[in-house]
Amino acid sequence: MTTGFAAIPASASYRLTGARAPLCLVEAGGLGADRDGLSLIDIAVEDGRIVSILPAGTEVLQDGPALDLDGGIVLPRLVDAHVHLDKGHIWPRSPNPDGSFMGALDSVGADREANWSAQDVRARMEFGLRCAFAHGTAALRTHIDSLGKQIGISWPVVAELRAEWAGRIALQASPLFGIECALDPVHLRDLVAAVKAHGDGLFGCVTYMIPELDQALDIVFRIAIENGFDLDFHVDESNDPAARSLERIAEAALRHRFTGRILAGHCCSLALQQPEDEARIIAKVLEAGIAVVSLPMCNMYLQDRAAGRTPRWRGVTALHELKAAGVPVMIASDNTRDPFYAYGDLDLVEVLREGTRMLQLDHSGTDWSETIARTPAAIMGEEGRGVLAAGGPADLILTRARSWTELFARPQADRTVLVEGEAIDRSLPDYRELDHLMASAT
Ligand SMILES: [Zn+2]
Repeated sequence: MTTGFAAIPASASYRLTGARAPLCLVEAGGLGADRDGLSLIDIAVEDGRIVSILPAGTEVLQDGPALDLDGGIVLPRLVDAHVHLDKGHIWPRSPNPDGSFMGALDSVGADREANWSAQDVRARMEFGLRCAFAHGTAALRTHIDSLGKQIGISWPVVAELRAEWAGRIALQASPLFGIECALDPVHLRDLVAAVKAHGDGLFGCVTYMIPELDQALDIVFRIAIENGFDLDFHVDESNDPAARSLERIAEAALRHRFTGRILAGHCCSLALQQPEDEARIIAKVLEAGIAVVSLPMCNMYLQDRAAGRTPRWRGVTALHELKAAGVPVMIASDNTRDPFYAYGDLDLVEVLREGTRMLQLDHSGTDWSETIARTPAAIMGEEGRGVLAAGGPADLILTRARSWTELFARPQADRTVLVEGEAIDRSLPDYRELDHLMASAT
């Protein structure tokens, strides 16, 4: 059992004093901020909820214990908009042979056909949820490979895990399949039935440039409109500037006057457009109301890789330009220990740290912590999460770091995570627990 550095008072009512929190994530008036955009605050907790947030040092007539955080950064429990729990942790039995995107696609496809029973998927998904929870994640959207027999195997497991994890992690799932399968009525019939029975009102697929792209997108948008689904796409995960399916999604959304939420993930090739093309596509994305999530760690692993050649590009989308235009932007975990990304642990503090380095989020505003908190919560319909607010749950991540440089310089392994005011056990599951599923490992 490990609960991190903080000794939380054993009382239903207590105060956390001298906390630093990103001003962009605090819903309270009268607060200033330092050059990091951090506000010094005192947080009062009662029966698992935040009852007040005041400037640090404000006199209060409140008995009860207090814990002085000595300027340490406090974050809300975080929100991961894009992960793949069903692929997670298959690396020992199905590594990526060469670190390429095609190597990932082929390895996962073969592993899925051979090994993805309900028991296998469930064990690995649950392992991922335990990691995310221990690191301080409150809500998470996973994609679910949805092809052929896998639809009937994976979606009931999603429903079971959503129910079992309620109160710890709000789990939602979006289907994943190649856009050409949208032209197959049998596939769509089976998948829509599974999403209606076990899903979260979310639909989507992987888009790339096929000749029938507009026709296939029309089908996907019609399904979403008929069923009241929001949409979530994997988009242009490629270094080919000719990959412009993001623009076609935006055009489809405008053509259908789509009013649901749309989240587009990856959008790597947007960063490789000519400036005028990039500006035109971003304008359409904004007009269509599309939000964009970048997956920096996975993109850097897969993109611009060639044997014997040093990569020149970090693989990430044009996130600064999207944000400047007013598009809601976020970053997320993506894959964990599978052929698409050999590492990762569903730790959003790591994602923000690595995202800051890869995307140079530093020196460009102090509100980037919204990308793993308030913004994904809004796009996921999880309003009230990803912020610190009186009346909201005392779901917090406490650290000893007093500034972004202190936060990002170390992994914050000693952080304390509070769920409804109580410190959780932050022990991470042992990889050995999955050894029995890795039979084909050598
Ligand atoms: Zn993904």
